[in-house]
Amino acid sequence: MSYAIDKIREDFPTLHQEVNNKNLVYLDSAASAQKPKCVIERTDQFYLKDNAAVHRGIHHLSAQATEMMEQVRTQVQHFINAKQREEIVFVHGTTHAINLVANSYGRLALSEGDEVIITEMEHHANIVPWQLLAKQIGVKVVVWPIEEDGTLSLDKLKSLLNRRTKFVSFTHVSNVLGTYNDAKKIIALAKQQGARVLVDGAQAIMHYQVDVQDLDCDFYVFSAHKLYAPTGIGVLYGKHDLLADMPPWEGGGAMIEEVDIYGETTFNAPPWRFEAGTPNVAGIIGLGSAIEYIDKIGLAAIASHESQLMSYALEQLAAVPDLKIYGPKDKSGVIAFNLANLHAFDVGSFLDKYGVAIRTGHHCAMPLMKRYQVSGMCRASIAMYNNKADIDALVTGLKRIQLLLVG
Ligand code: PLP
Repeated sequence: MSYAIDKIREDFPTLHQEVNNKNLVYLDSAASAQKPKCVIERTDQFYLKDNAAVHRGIHHLSAQATEMMEQVRTQVQHFINAKQREEIVFVHGTTHAINLVANSYGRLALSEGDEVIITEMEHHANIVPWQLLAKQIGVKVVVWPIEEDGTLSLDKLKSLLNRRTKFVSFTHVSNVLGTYNDAKKIIALAKQQGARVLVDGAQAIMHYQVDVQDLDCDFYVFSAHKLYAPTGIGVLYGKHDLLADMPPWEGGGAMIEEVDIYGETTFNAPPWRFEAGTPNVAGIIGLGSAIEYIDKIGLAAIASHESQLMSYALEQLAAVPDLKIYGPKDKSGVIAFNLANLHAFDVGSFLDKYGVAIRTGHHCAMPLMKRYQVSGMCRASIAMYNNKADIDALVTGLKRIQLLLVG
């Protein structure tokens, strides 16, 4: 069956508007993806009809909202092939999930002198929580540097792993370079050394069929808003035996079993132990709707469309004079570049005048900017709804800017 790109584009209302009197060309989905109508309508319906707090109510709406939310937990379980639904913790996003693991698992299982390996291509969300932990309990953050071509060398990882390595935390796909990291091999190497592993799936979950059992990762995290679902919701997958031992990180309602103000408070089982307070129920239900939508089209079909578009984009961009593209030739989802010695903000502002939305700046990856000795980069990203016309608009815009500002 051919990929129904026009129909898919129709499903995303935000794509059909003008910006600066030009048709919007949205190439910033790696920052946040647009939402299909079904997700928006489902979320609307929750507020129009279904709204209630989950867990604590005995009345119909509350029980129904609880059931709807718990159904999405099962959907997410199947989406990433987790063994049990109790391995799915709802959090605010990738950042929240990594902080949870660093603070809960980190404080439980790591101690002074233990080493945590992260890569040089991490988003700040997978750097700073470990640095904070290092300050608090004295673990050492060890950096796995990237190669010239923007990939990671497994030999280099082998040379970093040692008996003090207790944790490896890395991104499945780089949000800047588009590098796809062979998570399975990295995890296997870390496991040989007895280290636990977290995979930051923020830039992979929308492009690849993730199978956490096959990967054998201990934790896998992602944000719903990059998966065509609402903002403010994310997922932490954790192996059940690990979650069962982990202490709560945030305290409040829903995460307790029994509260004794004078004595000992006891805690709920995972995943609820890690879900203190009223969750973003509408967001969770919207996530369920986004997964249904993706399942209908099929991740394999989406990936194939995106990969053809990526090849087309790289081919067309090669014809733009003075354009430098960063990272490996094989890219997933994102293309980072600079045009001559122009500041990324200038390029981004000009493109915006042409209706083309890209991301500019350090992309929450300052160490990478330092590595490439630039203050920032431009980044175009590709999602299931982008087409060749989007790429053509980007390329035309860049050629114009090159003529105007570089000459
Ligand atoms: N990790 C990666 C690789 C990302 O690309 C991002 C967001 O761009 C994050 C983590 C943080 O995600 P969030 O801001 O949704 O928590």
